[in-house]
Amino acid sequence: MTTKARAGIYHSTVPPFGYRKSPEDSHKLIPDAETAPIVRRMYELAVQGKGYKAIGNVLKRERIPIPAYWHHIRGERTWAGFQGEGHISNYMWNETTIKWILSHEVYIGSLVAQKQSKLFKVGKNYVKPKDEWVVVKDIFEPIVDLELWERVQEVNGKRRRMCKAKREPSIFSGIAYCPDCGRRISFFPERTSKNNPEKTYFGSCQNYKANGPDGCTPHRIKEQDLYDIVLKDIREWAAMALADEQAVLGRVMEQQQLNSTVDYGLIEGKKRTIGKRLEEIDKVISRLYEDYALGRLAGTSIDNLMPKYQREQEELGKQLSALQEQSAEHDSTEQNAEKWISLIRQYSDLKELNSCIIDELITKILVGDKRRVNGEKVQSIEIHYRFIGNLTDSGNGETIQ
Ligand SMILES: [Zn+2]
Repeated sequence: MTTKARAGIYHSTVPPFGYRKSPEDSHKLIPDAETAPIVRRMYELAVQGKGYKAIGNVLKRERIPIPAYWHHIRGERTWAGFQGEGHISNYMWNETTIKWILSHEVYIGSLVAQKQSKLFKVGKNYVKPKDEWVVVKDIFEPIVDLELWERVQEVNGKRRRMCKAKREPSIFSGIAYCPDCGRRISFFPERTSKNNPEKTYFGSCQNYKANGPDGCTPHRIKEQDLYDIVLKDIREWAAMALADEQAVLGRVMEQQQLNSTVDYGLIEGKKRTIGKRLEEIDKVISRLYEDYALGRLAGTSIDNLMPKYQREQEELGKQLSALQEQSAEHDSTEQNAEKWISLIRQYSDLKELNSCIIDELITKILVGDKRRVNGEKVQSIEIHYRFIGNLTDSGNGETIQ
């Protein structure tokens, strides 16, 4: 499957929650009579000072279904986890979704202006401006008025700043790991020179720290260096996600395929072949019964032939359901990629990291050992993002010092 073919699929994206595609022009979004009031309600709850979790609880209590439900029943996107009307899972709002809705500019209709102003900062040649964006500009109709939206952003900002307090001993504690032995990277303050009373935090493999070279190698890193690398990586991905969501989605999906040993194009092909064979067997079996009923086939012949086809039918049925499971996994990969993009795109102007942001975006960071490549010290830092994992083949490969 080529990138282009896959990109073709992504083009028909699901409208953001609260909107629906205009019946006259599928490129236009219009507020949806059923779901736009839910978005407005969430903003009103937020401005009253309710946190993401509390808002989720209110919506659950009021039996207001989650976006996945709406997309599913409208045939916009299959929700593999759908368990029927009235099921409790239809009302289980997650904080990431709420946060996304409460910070997205699409709800004030200014998505495009934002995208273009960010574009120039990116400076990567694979992010290309799209002519359509200019056209889209006047089309988004706001669901929330600007004043309410801005007040909610203020509340969100306060919530983010409250996080700074828990910095000690390091915001990377419990997130940074040694890729060689799997133990944590722990951080300790050190004095870098006798004359300098100020202490600098350094991380190193816990195993090495406890057992020396018998345990592991140092995996030593200055906390500030790690901080700079992670901040830069987040900002870069955020800027790209803002400038061209589709391009980033394509890249994430491509990387997921590289990381995965499964070829989804192959799976779809296999599913088709098995489907065809199952149809043939169905025909053969009914033909056999027909011939038998019409006396064209002896009872002994049908007893000999039938088990062979039934066995094949059973075997193929098993194979098909295993393949279907794998495709479902692929679909959820795409949904996860979309979740990650909507999460990271909020951070293009991120100035400082804190443990809340790290927890929200990153599941682990693997700190490689320092190596010499062409006389230069190189250390591989592999950032594993929430929902999608690592985005580079060989780590972020940052050079330090
Ligand atoms: Zn180690």
